[in-house]
Parts: sequence; C-alpha cells; structure tokens
Amino acid sequence: MTPKEVLEFAKKNNVQIIDYRFTDLFGAWQHISTSLHELSEESFVEGKGFDGSSIRGFQAINESDMLLIPDPASAFMDPYTQVPTLVLICNIKDPITGESYSRDPRLIAQKAESYLKKVADVSYWGPEAEFFVFDDVKFGQGSNYAHYSVDSSEAIWNTDRDEMPNLGYKIRHKEGYFPVSPNDTLQDLRSEMILTMEKLGIRTEVHHHEVATAGQCEIDMRYDTLTKMADNVMKYKYVVRNTSLKYGKSATFMPKPLFQDNGSGMHCHQSLWKGGKNLFFGKGGYADLSEMAIHYIGGLLHHAPALLAFIAPTTNSYKRLVPGYEAPINLAYSKRNRSACIRIPMYSKSEKAKRIEFRTPDPSANPYIAFSAMLMAGLDGIERKLVPPAPLDKDIYEMSDRERKKIKQMPGSLEGALDALEKDHDFLLKGGVFTKDMIEVWVAEKRRRDVDQVRLRPHPHEFFLYYDI
Ligand code: GLN
Ligand code: MG
Ligand code: MG
Ligand code: MG
Repeated sequence: MTPKEVLEFAKKNNVQIIDYRFTDLFGAWQHISTSLHELSEESFVEGKGFDGSSIRGFQAINESDMLLIPDPASAFMDPYTQVPTLVLICNIKDPITGESYSRDPRLIAQKAESYLKKVADVSYWGPEAEFFVFDDVKFGQGSNYAHYSVDSSEAIWNTDRDEMPNLGYKIRHKEGYFPVSPNDTLQDLRSEMILTMEKLGIRTEVHHHEVATAGQCEIDMRYDTLTKMADNVMKYKYVVRNTSLKYGKSATFMPKPLFQDNGSGMHCHQSLWKGGKNLFFGKGGYADLSEMAIHYIGGLLHHAPALLAFIAPTTNSYKRLVPGYEAPINLAYSKRNRSACIRIPMYSKSEKAKRIEFRTPDPSANPYIAFSAMLMAGLDGIERKLVPPAPLDKDIYEMSDRERKKIKQMPGSLEGALDALEKDHDFLLKGGVFTKDMIEVWVAEKRRRDVDQVRLRPHPHEFFLYYDI
C-alpha cells in the first residue's frame, strides 16, 4: 500500500485508531496510538514523535526525542482491539540529525538486505518458531504448568505432572510427537492462530503439536524476504500470545521453560536468490548444494560462537542447547543429522526447495537482528571462501567420546557467547550494517540485565543441594 491507499483502506474499514509499532533492541514490540485524524500522507514522511529514553537499549534521557516513520506497506488491522485499529510498523529516526537510528533493529535488517545486493537479489527466510502454551495465565493451575521443583530433579515427571501409577488412565502429558485429540488439546487454538495470521497477511504452511509435553506447538510460515519475515515473526508472536490469552491460556517463547523436556527452537531455513535462480542449488554437490552454499555454511559455522549472542540471546537459551533434546550443540552440518547445527532438508530434490536449516537459533531472539547477523556471517563465508569441516552424517549423540571431541562445540552460556561476540564482530560491521555502538550496547545490557541478574540470584535448586549441607 502507498500512504494514500493506507488512508483509503482506513476509511473503508472504519478505522478510528492508528497504532504505531516498532521493535526495541531486544525484540519486544512497543507501540503508541493516535486517533485517525492525526494521520495524513505527510505522517509517512514527518513521522510521529516518541520518548526513546524509556526503551531498553535506546537513547539516553538527554537525547531522547525520536521519530517513528511508518511503513505504509506494513499496514494491517489489529485483530484484538474492540476499537477498529490500524497498525503501522515503523522505522526510527533521530529528529535532530534527520538520520535513521542506528540501533533500530528494522534498519539493521534493511541495511543487511542492501548489503546482500553484492551477491544476490534476495535472501529467503523460513523460521520455525516453537512455543509452549500453558493452561492458565496465573501459572500454577491446570495440568502442565511451568514451575520450579525444589525436589530431586530426576523425579519431576512422576511427582509433579503425572500421577503414577496412572490409575484413572488420564491422558498422558508426553506421548510421541503429534497424536490426535484428545491427547492434543490445542488443535482449535492453533487453527484459530493460523487463520488470524492469514488475515494479517502471513501465509502459513503447517501447524502441529511439538515433541515436548502437552502444550508445545509449532506453526510454520511460508518463506519470505528478510525484513518482511522479521515483521512476520513479530506478528506471529503477537497472534500466538493474544489467541492464547483469549482462551485463558498463556504462551511463551522462552527457549527452555521445562527441565528435562525439549525446549523451543527457531530453526531458520535460508537461501539466496538471484535473477529467479536459487544460488544454493548445485546439482551433484553434497546434498545438491552449490559451492556458494557451502561457503555460506562455512561462514555460519566459523562465526557461530559470536552469532550465538544474537540468535540464542538469553541465559535460558543455553538450557535448551544441551545434548538429548533435538537442539544442536555441535558446529557441524549434515543432510540428515538433526544433532548437527546445520541440516540440509532433503524432502524435495527440486531447485526451488534447496535451502539450509540452521537449528541453533531460538525464539527469544530479535528476528531482525538474528536474521541480519546470520546473513552477514554467511556472506562473509562467501566472500572469504570459508570452507566448513566435512559434513557429519553420523548421529553425533551416538558417537564415542573420542570421535565427538573432534567436533567443535559452541559456547555453553550467554556469557561465553558475549565474549565471543566481543572478539569476533568485524563481519557484522561490513557495509555499516551493524555499528560498533549497537554491539557494545547489546553486550553491556545483556551482561548487566541478563547474565548478572541470573548469576547473582540463589537458585531454587541450590536449596535442594546445599540447604542442609
Ligand atoms: N524443539 C527442538 C529444538 O529445540 C526441535 C524439535 C523439532 O523440530 N524436531 O530445536
Ligand atoms: Mg518444523
Ligand atoms: Mg519443530
Ligand atoms: Mg526444523
């Protein structure tokens, strides 16, 4: 839509409120609203002022006036408001310098897309953001709530969530992948989610229950270009959370809400295209990958430790990235092996479908920043012709310790990832896509608010271990 079309669309849909939305540095959607009469064609150039000082990771208080510049192409009707509300996704500008704001995640994504032009026309992204739906927004009622256990951790299944023996033959909490109802109680909820997503302009491909305890779900969106797909991830989370709330449930994208069960990943399928041709396709190569794709993989694996600071950016992310739960810890690629961090899906032999799947990211990531960082790592691999270690087609979990030791592993904590990012970030600065300032703020905030805040708190399990020592 053009600005003029947005105004016409608003009139036709009886819109009364305009909602300006932007993504903060750490991936949360923020908004301010006006009545419709405040919106004119000029608004798309002049923008709408807001106070950037109260946004985590944005401006200092003395330089806090910022502008939201709405993207007319992003307009959609908010499905959750009583008052007809039109949402506009915005970029951020500094009113004094008139420049785009370098810590605006959406700007980083747009810059990454222009930088890509050296090599390709577009990159396509297909993120699979998994999430948990818990029974009651208050947490603590219902059958599958998230909680700490102070008890012996091994017994958590039996003592806390399942009655043992199961005298009434009640429905089990964990049973395979995706049995139908009554085991799967969330079918209608997910269906409503995808139908709402479609109304918001997202094309979805599949929804299903996931491997973990009753309540883990996945919805897959059809691939799209980088910034558009990051916008879609924001809409996706909005729909998942609000649909859950509508039914008295609560959804979470935290990567590992439950001890000893699968976590939630955001596997990212990615490919580069030029002149309508898939640059990752190379008939006869390993898994029909082109040389360019192999170098792209080389870049992802080479920079993976630093990338983690953006693609697995919470302390909780590292509770997911452990052996045994289909979450990768090994810096390797493979056409079959889901324990390698990069998998080459082999469902289809066609050129169109050729892509790589990076399995390390999780949905606590800011999608604009995570996609951009991965793209920059891949492009660095292409530019420097980085070659990844030979593909690994054995099940890594089944290997002997000696064999396994040869495979490089990722940092095991957010702290380790932030250290790696501090050492390795030149690939992100190319073309001015990321700035030093943005990386420094990211590392400092993550250390202060995430790492330290978790590190300094006595953990409930420490009481079990040490209370009567
Ligand atoms: N939940 C797993 C993860 O953390 C993935 C499971 C799957 O999609 N097969 O990545
Ligand atoms: Mg999937
Ligand atoms: Mg999945
Ligand atoms: Mg997957």
